[in-house]
Amino acid sequence: MNLLNFNEIYPDEQSCKLKFKEIRDKEGVVCQHCGGKDHYWKSDKWQYECKKCGFRTTLRSGTVMHGSKLPFRYWFIAMHLLTSTKKSFSAKEVQRQLSHKRYEPIWGMLHKLRQAMGNRDGRYQLSGQIELDEGFFSTEIPDGEKGKPLKRGRGSQRKTKVLVMAESKAVEGESNKKGKPKKVRFIKMQLIGDLSAGTITAIVGEEVSPSSHLVTDDSTSYVDLVDVVEKHEPQVVDKKKVGEILPWVHIAISNAKRMLLDIHHDIKPDHLQNYLDEFCYNFNRRYFGEALFDRLLVASASHKNGFRYR
Ligand SMILES: [Zn+2]
Repeated sequence: MNLLNFNEIYPDEQSCKLKFKEIRDKEGVVCQHCGGKDHYWKSDKWQYECKKCGFRTTLRSGTVMHGSKLPFRYWFIAMHLLTSTKKSFSAKEVQRQLSHKRYEPIWGMLHKLRQAMGNRDGRYQLSGQIELDEGFFSTEIPDGEKGKPLKRGRGSQRKTKVLVMAESKAVEGESNKKGKPKKVRFIKMQLIGDLSAGTITAIVGEEVSPSSHLVTDDSTSYVDLVDVVEKHEPQVVDKKKVGEILPWVHIAISNAKRMLLDIHHDIKPDHLQNYLDEFCYNFNRRYFGEALFDRLLVASASHKNGFRYR
């Protein structure tokens, strides 16, 4: 869907509300009071009314727009921007495009959409052959660390640790100079507080199917992975060869870093996960084309957000 199509299909607030209602009807509204699933539609109030207990649910309630006062069309435009291009958008830029006075609500809206994306991907467990490694992303120094001497390298307060996993399988029958090329499917990126084996094994146990085969370097952080997956191949990785053994985690890390550097600056560690969720969501749906907007609408209609302003 390009900008012209978007404007034709969603020319005003009413068209966006009708579409959002259509999706909620399809996904099903659940009464927050009694858990009932059957509702009347009160067209004069634009609310659902529970057939069992009479509790009213607004069109926004229980969705990504829960508690938001921004027009539906703002949300639709933001979803369009986030899904129609290969780029991300800063809140400043979206604010400018919408000519909205205040920055904070726009910033919050984008983060809520990113959380809806992360929530959707969170339902998926990786499986098959998986590359795994850590990435170190530049972020602002956390408040509690300000004024303290800066540590160097990977332990620096300016770096946030991220566990990166990529379903990556050698292509059958093909080979090139470097051996068999690998094809990537789904990826995940997860912030981690430390690189201990306990932390990493717990996350892998959640995010990866037990039948998987993991490929990693020979770091001691990975010694317990064999407890949670069928097969783990730790390899001694020469820095120059990392692109052959763990190609997709490293491509994903460098693309995500570039996106952050180009569009979003001075990210607080607390917000990094949301940006990574947006990156992974779009990456994982890179072949969806025009369907991506509708998918994000569905994810938004069925995800109530816990995101809080700063
Ligand atoms: Zn009810």
